Amino acid sequence: MKYFSLNRKAPDVSFREAVVRGLAPDRGLYFPNSIQPLPESFFNDMENRSDSQIAFAVIEQFVSDDIPKDVLRRIVEEVLTFEFPLVQVEPDVYSLELFHGPTLAFKDVGARFMARCLGYFNSMKSTSENVTVLVATSGDTGGAVANGFYEVEGVEVVILYPSGKVSDIQEKQLTTLGKNISALEVEGSFDDCQAMVKKAFLDKDFEGKVNLTSANSINVARWLPQMFYYFSAYKRLQQLGKPIVFSVPSGNFGNICAGMMAQKMGLPVAHFVTGTNANDVVPNYLRTGSFDTKDTIPTISNAMDVAAPSNFIRIEELYDHDIDKLRANLSGYSYTDDQTRSTMRYLYDTFGYIADPHGAIGYSALKDHMADSGFDGVGVFLETAHPVKFLDVIPKEIVPRIVLPDSIENIVHKTKVAHKISSYTELKDSLLGR
Ligand SMILES: *Cc1c(COP(=O)(O)O)cnc(C)c1O
Repeated sequence: MKYFSLNRKAPDVSFREAVVRGLAPDRGLYFPNSIQPLPESFFNDMENRSDSQIAFAVIEQFVSDDIPKDVLRRIVEEVLTFEFPLVQVEPDVYSLELFHGPTLAFKDVGARFMARCLGYFNSMKSTSENVTVLVATSGDTGGAVANGFYEVEGVEVVILYPSGKVSDIQEKQLTTLGKNISALEVEGSFDDCQAMVKKAFLDKDFEGKVNLTSANSINVARWLPQMFYYFSAYKRLQQLGKPIVFSVPSGNFGNICAGMMAQKMGLPVAHFVTGTNANDVVPNYLRTGSFDTKDTIPTISNAMDVAAPSNFIRIEELYDHDIDKLRANLSGYSYTDDQTRSTMRYLYDTFGYIADPHGAIGYSALKDHMADSGFDGVGVFLETAHPVKFLDVIPKEIVPRIVLPDSIENIVHKTKVAHKISSYTELKDSLLGR
């Protein structure tokens, strides 16, 4: 299996090359040139398979021969060392909790998988040149990438984050690991960080000196493993014998697109719903048919503050760039911060369930879709972050009920190590001086 560029002006590549490059030379996203449905026997027998057996069967075709099967099996086992609880919130409504990984973000699975793939590819190289993963973060991505790549041989990780604009816990997750992980604290906004990273990828001065690669969700090794979540929920719900709808709080639309890939592989999903905050370009597009990007609006669900969702082009490819085909499979809703806060209160007061702002949006979108369509089946919303990461925006009366996980207890006492920079030149000097 090969990957082609969605800009269609670059050669097809193997999984390995797609992972190492991140983006195609024509700046397009890579997309698999075939998606083979899994056999019926796989679905009939799912109950008897472990998480890692399911994940291996799901990802295998996309890796092809670039990683030997026994190595891939081991990688998948090392990635999935935590739980993905499916919590019933009310009759026929479940929360799929994806935040029990080391950095309490659903991005842990993709980051850990990508890190191990890159580590394997490095170990196979005759030369021992390092790869430098350069990543800009508004909060969640940096922690997941730092943790996923920690102590991976031959990989240096450099994380840029905007000074004073990530939560205390998120900052600790980025700045306390040490070893092959370094943090650069940028005097500026997240957009400034991202602009510096983009500039570095195009800068010819690094050629032959530093091998830069990216670890954001455009990378196929971060995006595709997320298919597993949907299979894992299905395994536990299939005995109910009811149709299933997934509702996904979305920013760059990588996670929901992975669900749509799972459906292409034969997973019985009746419909997808996306929930967004005020950055609502996709729900608007579904309603009006025109894709109008605005400036990014800051919200309390800040991991979804994305004005131009990078993975949406992959979703369009899956539906042949036909909006009616897309509408038949996807509904979208958007919510204000006030609505999000009142959903968090409602969930807590009515069901005793504590949702983070992103999960709350997933829940609202699910309920609105069920009401609007009269859907009579099971609804699953994806809970993408632990509420402890958003203490400053969760209604005050709920905060004391949130239990601090061990991984956070251990980190709050550690000392932050970050190097402050304020210009691209300083970033460049720092990278070339390694
Ligand atoms: C990244 C993130 C999202 C959005 O996921 P996409 O794949 O970019 O749509 C939602 N919630 C949380 C907590 C996140 O960190």
